[in-house]
Amino acid sequence: MRGENTQRMVLLETLRLAVPMHMAELRPLEPSHRAEIASRCATVIGSHGDALQFGGKHCREAFNALARGLAAAALTVPGGVDFLGAHWCTDPWCRAKNRFDHADDEPPTTTQQTDIPAQRPFEDVIRDLADYLNTTGDAA
Ligand SMILES: [Zn+2]
Repeated sequence: MRGENTQRMVLLETLRLAVPMHMAELRPLEPSHRAEIASRCATVIGSHGDALQFGGKHCREAFNALARGLAAAALTVPGGVDFLGAHWCTDPWCRAKNRFDHADDEPPTTTQQTDIPAQRPFEDVIRDLADYLNTTGDAA
């Protein structure tokens, strides 16, 4: 049991170093590209994830996929990601314990009820959409 805890602690501490490094590299990318990277990393972890626990020739590949996948997801998923009790999100100085803490961090978008526009009639929205499609449809 002690070995498992040590292994878990080493994994967590190395991720605390590696994930922000991958985040710095992935931050400039488009969200769709980051989501694609997260998906690819999940595939690698799916096939070689056991190497993280038991070692072997795919250990480094699995660790890099885990760190990079967490980084890509942290920058893409609202609220970020949590793993082994650690939390990563778009805010490098975030002090939240986990992604669920972010619900309370969101500042109110308005303090006045009057700032919220009244719901528009359905016909108006459809007409505007039709106008938009008519003016942009030919150009495309
Ligand atoms: Zn956060």
